[in-house]
Amino acid sequence: MKITSITAVPLSYRLPEGKTVTMGVGSTLKRDAIIVRVETSEGVTGYGEAHPGRSPGAIASLIQNTLAPMLVGMNATDVVGAWQRVHRMQLSSHGLGAGAALALSGIDMALWDIRGKAANMPLYELLGGTRRRVPAYAGGISLGYQPKESLAEEAGEYVARGYKAVKLRLGDNAGDDIERAVHVRQALGDRVDILTDANTVYTMADARRVLPVLADIRAGWLEEPFACNDFASYREAAKITPLVPLAAGENHYTRFEFAQLLEAGAVQVWQPDLSKCGGITEGVRIAAIASAWRIPVNPHSSATGLNHAATLHFMAATENSGYFEACVSKFNPFRDMFGPTFEIGADGCVEPPSGPGIGIEVDESIFGKYPSIDGPGYVVKF
Ligand SMILES: [Mg+2]
Repeated sequence: MKITSITAVPLSYRLPEGKTVTMGVGSTLKRDAIIVRVETSEGVTGYGEAHPGRSPGAIASLIQNTLAPMLVGMNATDVVGAWQRVHRMQLSSHGLGAGAALALSGIDMALWDIRGKAANMPLYELLGGTRRRVPAYAGGISLGYQPKESLAEEAGEYVARGYKAVKLRLGDNAGDDIERAVHVRQALGDRVDILTDANTVYTMADARRVLPVLADIRAGWLEEPFACNDFASYREAAKITPLVPLAAGENHYTRFEFAQLLEAGAVQVWQPDLSKCGGITEGVRIAAIASAWRIPVNPHSSATGLNHAATLHFMAATENSGYFEACVSKFNPFRDMFGPTFEIGADGCVEPPSGPGIGIEVDESIFGKYPSIDGPGYVVKF
């Protein structure tokens, strides 16, 4: 079974006026996503999702115009070979670094979908797991900056649906961050796990003020206080309190960058995104490295049901997986455009789809509804 074609479809959705969510990365204007279709000589078609970075057109072009010609003609089940070829040509020499990792991730995910469909096995089974329930937290683009009362109300809605963990956006300013986190803890009581994410905008001074309070309210982690490559700050911040682990990984690419996180010795929760880190092939390798150091893997998950489902399969087959990031964004039509992918249970858990491969029926007629829109997806205050 040979790869005969690789196509990338960039999609966009503009948020309704006044419905933005604000967090450390800025205020959302639109959502972007890239669907990757891989066709084979046996008629089996696989689908994957590549994260668009901040430039969906550029990543789609990289997939179709640069990576596709390198991979067409290869054996479609040779995910390791395809990975190696892209790594050699685009990641390690004269390439596009993170951009190539995003592009490769979507192709790799589609190749795993093909493997599963060809074997008539759901991905979790192919990866060596079983259809087990995975704990989930309410995440995605949600719980942004707002008055503490409405924030607690929004978090309460997710808890009422079944979520036993929620993720608050920090990084507004240390004073408001502290007030909101303390208020949400009081409002939700002790049984809910409160996770926090500063989306890379903290200074060390912010971290020194906020981390002791997060320890007081027993927060589950502080995610991305600093830029992804600011290892010195991560190392320093990890000394502030042993009670709140630092989390990162959604902006780290390939096992080689995760190995650097390990060497920095300051990030205790890893969050690879299968649509960014180099795909499922690389996600498995990253999780294996993490397991040897007793580091839990709590994947970041992006826009569409394809990545959500792939992530659930991956987690069901990973010994050291933690929480699934359930997208509860109020304005993300990509989540359910192929039908709902997961349903939160009263136990706070979700499970992967049961069909072969990723288990998502892709109806391409929906793509016409979301033509790609150029330009930035967020407005940022500097
Ligand atoms: Mg994050």
